[in-house]
Amino acid sequence: MAKRSPPRSVRCYHCGQPLEVSGKAQSTSCPACNGRVIVQDVEVAVLTPVHEIQTCGRLVVTKKGTLIAKRVQALGGVDVLGRMEANVESGGTVHIAAGARWRGDCSAPAVTIDPGARIEGGRFSVPSEPRYLAAK
Ligand SMILES: [Zn+2]
Repeated sequence: MAKRSPPRSVRCYHCGQPLEVSGKAQSTSCPACNGRVIVQDVEVAVLTPVHEIQTCGRLVVTKKGTLIAKRVQALGGVDVLGRMEANVESGGTVHIAAGARWRGDCSAPAVTIDPGARIEGGRFSVPSEPRYLAAK
């Protein structure tokens, strides 16, 4: 029954410290800054207004999901199939699917926008030295 989960390397989004966590961990605390670090993937499947979302994992906004946030940090990347209204800083590829809607700034090492996606505003930047990179 137990699934084997290899340890993952992530990076603390508070201070940038590399961390090793067990594959099953949902969160950990950073030994460098004592900050609480969410490492699990986050899925948004309904209308979700929040102040901010931070995770070392991936953020997925499903087709029926709407994420309205001031600030999003997803170090593992972002997948938007629904609607996103947030300023996003990603450590991985940001993918905006056909039929998705996006409003807000985006900073990511790579951005993929499918034909049929709607960008309703925001500044996109692909820094050559992003502050955060997805751990390999
Ligand atoms: Zn830290």
